[in-house]
Amino acid sequence: MPLTRRQWVLAAAAWSAACSSPAPEPETAVETPPEADFLKNVHVIDLHCDTPMRIAAEGFDLGKRNDYGQVDIPRLHEGGYTGVFFSVYCPGARGATPEKFQEALDIMAKIEAEVGRHPGDLFLGDSAGDIERAKQEGKITILYGIEGGHMIDSKLDNLRTLFSKGGRYMTLTHSKHTPWAGSSGDTAADDPGLTELGREIVAEMNRLGMMVDVSHISDKTFAAVRETSAAPLIASHSSCRALSSAPRNMTDGMLKQVADTGGVVHINYYDGFLDDGFRARSAAWGEDHKGEAEKLKAEYAGDPQGLAHALYRRQIAKLDEIGRPPLAVLLDHFEHAVTVMGVEGVGLGSDFDGVDEELPEGMEDCSKTMNLVEGLRGRGLSDGDISKILGENTLRVMRDVQAAAKPDA
Ligand SMILES: [Zn+2]
Repeated sequence: MPLTRRQWVLAAAAWSAACSSPAPEPETAVETPPEADFLKNVHVIDLHCDTPMRIAAEGFDLGKRNDYGQVDIPRLHEGGYTGVFFSVYCPGARGATPEKFQEALDIMAKIEAEVGRHPGDLFLGDSAGDIERAKQEGKITILYGIEGGHMIDSKLDNLRTLFSKGGRYMTLTHSKHTPWAGSSGDTAADDPGLTELGREIVAEMNRLGMMVDVSHISDKTFAAVRETSAAPLIASHSSCRALSSAPRNMTDGMLKQVADTGGVVHINYYDGFLDDGFRARSAAWGEDHKGEAEKLKAEYAGDPQGLAHALYRRQIAKLDEIGRPPLAVLLDHFEHAVTVMGVEGVGLGSDFDGVDEELPEGMEDCSKTMNLVEGLRGRGLSDGDISKILGENTLRVMRDVQAAAKPDA
């Protein structure tokens, strides 16, 4: 068992007293407490984990340490997590989507049930205060992030329902345009930007105190959202376009504009958004292995756990072959965002369980927080700055959006 900070100080002092001259310098040891203590004293809050897809499709058990996937309770504790936004997601669609709203409710119910199975470790919450209180009890707060405006089926009432059930951010689109907002993933020329209804939706999110999430939207839509939102903006899981050209990433101008609102961009760890070289290698590998995933899906029909393991093994074999980007590539994105936005503008948005294991070396799952901490220290950030990035900035923006809400208006 690692020493607590107090035990460490006492042990260092006792050792110092026991030794004859020349006296060692226990202060040097005391200044760098054991790793476990660092995580005990900070918030680690991740804005985007797609683990609910595993819970819904595979009966994934959060309670045990799983041999696949990126997020479960043992690994969350190891990574020092105090808050996780679980993504409420179903694939995007255009036009009328009443069934997608129902799917959102169903996913929330499944998350609630799974959290309810682990009351000693997890707490279903919806505020910065919840995260802080649960941490005092050694619990991790699970919150809902709505991924994709298509799930409200263009209806303000549905938005209000998702908020009342605890949804605390909404990504305005997923990878297709909705009737009221444009997506960065949709190549169709009819990007609506942000329509009149889109502006009403953003204003309603501001009124309710629901964070407006600019991840996934098109550049045209971003510009309109920036004009429209009266509250700080967030990107729940986006990286830097200056370093990797994926349209899902944010330009330096966008990073600056989010910072100007007092908002936070939560950096995405997906290799395909971090590294253009990886994206090219991955695409070439995909060409060489066409149809294999479909074959596995047919082979494991009716056995979702078996399929999940088979797909996991396939992805690990792929990564062994084409190579994961080193952790330094992820650190570059953090460092760049800090340079452009200031340290107050940056947070964590891993996209764990949503990226087919395609994560940098040393960041393979949620237990690896200390690798990020050490890496950021290596980039010259102080422990105070790192604490902001790990969670304090997110707590701040959650409070600021809540404070700007006008629920009675
Ligand atoms: Zn996403």
